[in-house]
Amino acid sequence: MPGRHRTNVSAAFVGHDRAVNEATAEPGVLLPNTLQHVSETPAQRGIPSVDRIVREMSGHDLPRLLIVNVARTIVSEVRRAAIDNPTDAAHPEITADRVLEQVKAALTRLEAGRIRPVINATGIILHTNLGRAPLGLGAVQKIGDTAAHYSTLEYDLVEGTRGRRGSYVESALAALCGADAATVVNNCAAALVLILRHFATRKGRREVVISRGELVQIGGGFRVPEILAASGARLREVGTTNQTTLDDYRQALSSRTAMILRVHRSNFFMGGFVRAPAAAELSALAREAAVPFVEDLGSGATFDTRGLGGGEHEPTPTSALADGADLVCFSGDKLLGGPQAGIIAGRKTFVHALKKQPFFRALRCDKLVLSALEATVDAHLAGQQPAEVPAHAMMRLTVEELRPRAQHIVDAITSPQLVAKVGHCQSQVGGGSLPQTLLDSVAVDLLPHGRQSAEQWAKALRLRRAGPIIGLVTESRLRLDLRTVFPTQDEALITALRQLAAT
Ligand SMILES: *Cc1c(COP(=O)(O)O)cnc(C)c1O
Repeated sequence: MPGRHRTNVSAAFVGHDRAVNEATAEPGVLLPNTLQHVSETPAQRGIPSVDRIVREMSGHDLPRLLIVNVARTIVSEVRRAAIDNPTDAAHPEITADRVLEQVKAALTRLEAGRIRPVINATGIILHTNLGRAPLGLGAVQKIGDTAAHYSTLEYDLVEGTRGRRGSYVESALAALCGADAATVVNNCAAALVLILRHFATRKGRREVVISRGELVQIGGGFRVPEILAASGARLREVGTTNQTTLDDYRQALSSRTAMILRVHRSNFFMGGFVRAPAAAELSALAREAAVPFVEDLGSGATFDTRGLGGGEHEPTPTSALADGADLVCFSGDKLLGGPQAGIIAGRKTFVHALKKQPFFRALRCDKLVLSALEATVDAHLAGQQPAEVPAHAMMRLTVEELRPRAQHIVDAITSPQLVAKVGHCQSQVGGGSLPQTLLDSVAVDLLPHGRQSAEQWAKALRLRRAGPIIGLVTESRLRLDLRTVFPTQDEALITALRQLAAT
């Protein structure tokens, strides 16, 4: 067996070399032999060799093999199109330039897919597409330290033996949530899957009772009914979209019930004729039926969110557990302001049982995430947010603090080529958190004139090699909301906007 394995590995390397050699040869090798010497159409004759294409793409900072692969794919597509349409008089001139343009565009897209820092001028604080919560300095330093060295990840310094991964952060999270116990997995979706697989996959007891008003979709790909189904649980929906009573829940309970689940609506809100039982009532009902009551809180606010101006109240893990939830789960990178993680807190027996699930091993966090989470939770416990939790600092910024920065930038960039104004706008928390909360904010508004449009400017700023800047096009202007721009980025913004004006 080991011998066979080795053969496979070396075969893979041979194949790899051949790919490179072929790629640098004439494009004809991509075709079956019979086709190679068939007389070429004008269109086919215009196609440059892969070798030439690769030589001309020196401006791209990409591994050579990737450039070769892209060039080969496009050349073979173009050749196939030329063969399929040999007499297409309307498109005979597939010129070298056009193929080169295609390859260049594909490489630009490929390069743009790399993870790199951006300046977030959207005003959306927990922007899921931009990585949600930026981490505080303490967390960043701790990640670097852990990454570059060996660590106590699973080592017990007192005993000198193997220790428990995450032992400190679990205690710290339990304290932060007012819980008996806590643990961490990859993200909140994973936390919910783990909970469902543990409680709702026993024979005869698979039903998860949940209100129809909570069968929500959160962001891309997280739909509560689908997560339930994928976890092996059965959905037992009760009530209506806007009204669910305690009686609705009670009538759904049976010997098949595995748990009562409440899912926070997160990214939308309902007003008007809306009713749902209080958490305390649901927990009492669950206790009567001897089933667990679990709340997916999503955002995981650990502070009173009503102070943010929207007047919106998010249940905190502490309040949800005090109201009787047996377990809560929430994200690490939403209102907690830490790294991507899914936190589970609540009854000790349940948390320990979840950790014994074989599936837990597949969902556990790595040492870098645990390091960042430790630092973030420590900052919360020490009352050091907002200083150590940038998302919190951004939520608390006032118009008075933002306006002088906007004025400074506007003064620095205004020129005959660039009309800029201090604009007033409203920022959002984002990440599916506090959808009704709008924070009064200040922006640098760029007003296009002549042949330029706000969209063109937005694209130019996104594709900046020196560092992308993401703004919002609104009311035919490009708006850069300063709430989510770090003050240390103001000068970079000025440089970028001056360059924009000069193009
Ligand atoms: C955001 C959210 C999730 C998903 O959290 P991730 O950490 O992104 O997996 C799950 N449930 C609710 C209610 C949410 O708001």
